[in-house]
Amino acid sequence: MYRIGNGYDVHQLIEGKKLVLCGVEVPHTAGEMAHSDGDVAVHAIIDALLGALALGDIGSHFPDTDMAYAGIDSMILLRKTVTLIREKGYDIVNIDCTIVLQRPKIRNYIDSMRENLSRVLEIPEDRVSVKAKTEEKLGFTGDGSGIKSYAVALLVNRHIASEETR
Ligand code: MG
Repeated sequence: MYRIGNGYDVHQLIEGKKLVLCGVEVPHTAGEMAHSDGDVAVHAIIDALLGALALGDIGSHFPDTDMAYAGIDSMILLRKTVTLIREKGYDIVNIDCTIVLQRPKIRNYIDSMRENLSRVLEIPEDRVSVKAKTEEKLGFTGDGSGIKSYAVALLVNRHIASEETR
């Protein structure tokens, strides 16, 4: 009845690019280098959702060689992924996402991020978790040259779930 998936993504941070996280533009001197808007958190969440149903990964559904996805808002890709999951008979129970970066501090943006995700995932905000973490100045997140994100998603098969409660 339940399926779980995990996702992971990394992007380089480049000066002059926008830093977009869960659809929120966070003020910073650098942003994600990517074919899309580079929303590293949403990319990890998409991979977690696809992974839960063994449906491949973000690259197989939205190839970075396809000009249709150049500069695209990743929330649009997330919306398409949610539609696919629902077509397969599954509902999202909850998601948990960790964004790893040294700077900037994103604490003040977390609520807006959760609000955005809640709207697109069509689940209440108390089932959407976004956390921020540093890696203690170590490695590529520590020196600010990159950003990464991890996500876990739990799905429930709505047909089996409704039979069990009948
Ligand atoms: Mg990505």
